[in-house]
Amino acid sequence: MSNVIELKVPDIGDAKNVEVIEVFVKVGDSIAKEDSLITLETDKASMEVPSSAAGVVKEIRIKVGDKVSEGSVMLLLEARDAAAASLAAAPAAPAAAPVAAPQPASHGGAADAEFDVLVLGGGPGGYSAAFRAADLGLKVAMVERYATLGGVCLNVGCIPSKALLHNAAVIDEVRHLAANGIKYPEPKIDLDALRGYKNKVIGKLTTGLTGMAKARKVEVIRGLGRFLDPYHVEVELTTGTGQEKTGQKQVIKFKQAIIAAGSRVVKLPFIPEDPRIVDSTGALGLQAVPKKMLVIGGGIIGLEMGTVYSTLGARLDVVEMMDGLMQGADRDLVRVWQKMNAHRFDNIMLKTKTVAVEAKPDGIYVTFEGDAAPKEAQRYDMVLVAAGRAPNGKLIGAEQAGVAVTDRGFIEVDKQMRTNVPHIFAIGDIVGQPMLAHKAVHEGHVAAEVAAGHKAYFDARAIPGVAYTDPEVAWVGVTEDEAKKNGIKIEKSVFPWAASGRAIANGRDEGFTKLIFDAETHRLIGGAIVGTHAGDMLGEIGLAIEMGCDPTDIGKTIHAHPTLGESIGLAAEVAEGSCTDLPPVRKK
Ligand code: FAD
Repeated sequence: MSNVIELKVPDIGDAKNVEVIEVFVKVGDSIAKEDSLITLETDKASMEVPSSAAGVVKEIRIKVGDKVSEGSVMLLLEARDAAAASLAAAPAAPAAAPVAAPQPASHGGAADAEFDVLVLGGGPGGYSAAFRAADLGLKVAMVERYATLGGVCLNVGCIPSKALLHNAAVIDEVRHLAANGIKYPEPKIDLDALRGYKNKVIGKLTTGLTGMAKARKVEVIRGLGRFLDPYHVEVELTTGTGQEKTGQKQVIKFKQAIIAAGSRVVKLPFIPEDPRIVDSTGALGLQAVPKKMLVIGGGIIGLEMGTVYSTLGARLDVVEMMDGLMQGADRDLVRVWQKMNAHRFDNIMLKTKTVAVEAKPDGIYVTFEGDAAPKEAQRYDMVLVAAGRAPNGKLIGAEQAGVAVTDRGFIEVDKQMRTNVPHIFAIGDIVGQPMLAHKAVHEGHVAAEVAAGHKAYFDARAIPGVAYTDPEVAWVGVTEDEAKKNGIKIEKSVFPWAASGRAIANGRDEGFTKLIFDAETHRLIGGAIVGTHAGDMLGEIGLAIEMGCDPTDIGKTIHAHPTLGESIGLAAEVAEGSCTDLPPVRKK
């Protein structure tokens, strides 16, 4: 099925005639949804415009130097099979390599050690690949610059943020109990102890990884790795808690390599250095709870950290260039979250951008421009910059190995996670969106299995996304917005939690469960939940998508009562017209 669609410049606030300063794609490129297409720049800021669909670029309608506004056509995209294209949102497809392959170097010297597989980076992608490769009988080395394994996710990402969010959720839940006649005094918060708890959680997991590496005889080499050529990596050994160099180097020879060097926080050029201005890592450091906090960027990371600080006592403002928070999730889900969280915010500034930040002794003064921009600069006690993450592809000497890296630092791979150099694989954040740990792990297993000679490839239909806010917002597969944009004909069914016995008993019945079926095949292609524990329940929907289930498969599966997960079966019954937990459907 072929489906050529126009990709237009989305809502970019009140900016008009904005200059195109970079075009990342060319005709013939195969792109995934959320891949960046172009960068726009005003005199104050620049923004990358992501693709709203997956497919092959047929025609480019703009060039560097052009001036564009909302609605300008950027390119024509052939969304292969539209449904399949959006389902397979993940790694960049192999077809046309848009980036010229660099000429590899040749290392003439000796090596200190030799391995079947060298894994560069010890994050979720890297350690999963290394462990799987070792389990499959390969001799593996893993190079990691920091003292602990686990990468961003375990050290400064998924895990510490969830350790803090768990505490915040318990505080919030206890506050809700007041309505049921159970009243506790306001909590006394010992920040040092809370930080200690978070660090203990990290320690437990990272120590576990070190033990598992040893048990598998995976050699962990502590240092900063750079390719010397397609078969050698040089490691500058590091020590201490950061990346202090010891001055010693090791050259490692490998038969195959897996690049898992991840991503880093994007820094906005106009933001000054000041301890009151933090990124996600700084926010996880939990040094103090400010009275008034600004979150720059209304994505998941910013909103999760905002939730923690707000529950601990901060008043929040958030500024977002797009027309809604939590981009990627359907708006009906986000509306439920927003209503429940309105009390945390003084000001939600949409279609607005930050144009100046000044650090003064009494606070950080921030100036905004756009639809919701206050006239005067606003004063904050703390500013969290959560404006996205950039891949580390340009920092590892990939060109010496002949590995092609895009202008933005991503490494393109095929469905077996091979780069343009067939014995070198790449996985995780460094290969593209969505930058999520579970995607990195899945890709890591594929790369390791292929390296061990297995016929594996990345064939997941859908990658889940979860905002671990309160309530949680979780979705997997095709969203309703995406179906609309890509002309996918769907049937949706919704089960409101206002009719769920368990949700009512919990005093949290604001959520709903939504299933999205392909209108022609009646198979499940997407689903979403907003409500408490939504993320924990999403797995069933993901499995049903992978298994190609229809409403009967899901509705006739007996779900335990009373559970929140029951809402998935009930939503399928809604699609079948057999739900008896809702009022009867009026006959047309
Ligand atoms: P990384 O985790 O970035 O690991 C790369 C590793 O490579 C690092 O340890 C780095 O030190 C090392 N490295 C890089 N270059 C070199 C070099 N030259 N030499 C040696 N070592 C090198 N994802 C989720 O799925 N769920 C969540 O809830 C979630 N929450 C998040 C919360 C926050 C605050 C943040 C910042 C991220 C969150 N993420 C979450 C995203 C998740 O952390 C990443 O998608 C995941 O860590 C990517 O794994 P990776 O292995 O590709 O890279």
